[in-house]
Amino acid sequence: MVPEERIDAVGDVAGLRELVRKHRAYLEVEPRVVETDGRKVRVGADLMLWGAHRRSTSPRPSCTLCQAIHQDLVAIASFALPPAGVRPAAWILPFDGRLFASDRWGRDEVDLTIRIGDAADPSGLAQADRLLREIRSRLEFLGVFLGGWRPSDF
Ligand SMILES: [Zn+2]
Repeated sequence: MVPEERIDAVGDVAGLRELVRKHRAYLEVEPRVVETDGRKVRVGADLMLWGAHRRSTSPRPSCTLCQAIHQDLVAIASFALPPAGVRPAAWILPFDGRLFASDRWGRDEVDLTIRIGDAADPSGLAQADRLLREIRSRLEFLGVFLGGWRPSDF
């Protein structure tokens, strides 16, 4: 089980939109499935927030640039999360330091994952899906869209 960390929402919109532009941030969503008694059950989703990293010929795990980008992604994600203690749960997974090779923009990419939905309460799936839509719409408000970064006129 991955240790998980909850971070309270903070942030100013203009500054966060600047971070989105700077890192060409965009999002992807994957269903989160857990196995219970041999049955696979969808309990929510993982939302990945991606930030561009200059091409690294010898990627070192968790270099200072990776860490700086991830820190900015945390600020962006925190804006989109509900206040601490609200159910169903959504939280930011700890940074594992990985740098992903990517052809997008000719850059590599750093990811932050927001995990949405409680594996112990699969009956909360509808609420988890509603929360996913809320988080996505708050991210879109900052200029973070599904599938790729889009220049915006903020
Ligand atoms: Zn790096």
